[in-house]
Amino acid sequence: MSTTEGMQRRLREAGLRVTRPRVAVLAAVADHPHADAGELLAAAREQLPDVSHQAVYDSLHTLTAAGLVRCIQPSGATARYETRVGDNHHHLVCRSCGAIVDVDCEVGEAPCLTPADDHGYAVDEAEIVYWGLCPECRATTTE
Ligand SMILES: [Zn+2]
Ligand SMILES: [Zn+2]
Repeated sequence: MSTTEGMQRRLREAGLRVTRPRVAVLAAVADHPHADAGELLAAAREQLPDVSHQAVYDSLHTLTAAGLVRCIQPSGATARYETRVGDNHHHLVCRSCGAIVDVDCEVGEAPCLTPADDHGYAVDEAEIVYWGLCPECRATTTE
């Protein structure tokens, strides 16, 4: 479990005001990597039973904008959140059940892939999603 003190420190270091919803949401994201907003609302309410929907969504937005939380949105899926930021890691997504796992970046710094032709853009990031079937779904579909 993530400590409240640790979460408060991260908020302060990012220059954010420490509020109870922010602490609860940051802890929820840290404890449930790749959860969506609905799952995070439920997790935040375990710590802060009376926290509003709106406060959780606002906190997620603020934490993401401050770089404490990374938002990923595989096409066709709901946005997911994680506190593993700044290491340029990628994701494996299951087409069948939507399970997401982290894949370390081979290069470790952005952009780890360069386009064949950058069309004059200054590229600073490549976000890679590997699609496939997770082991559980493979096991059930090959039966
Ligand atoms: Zn699956
Ligand atoms: Zn991740």
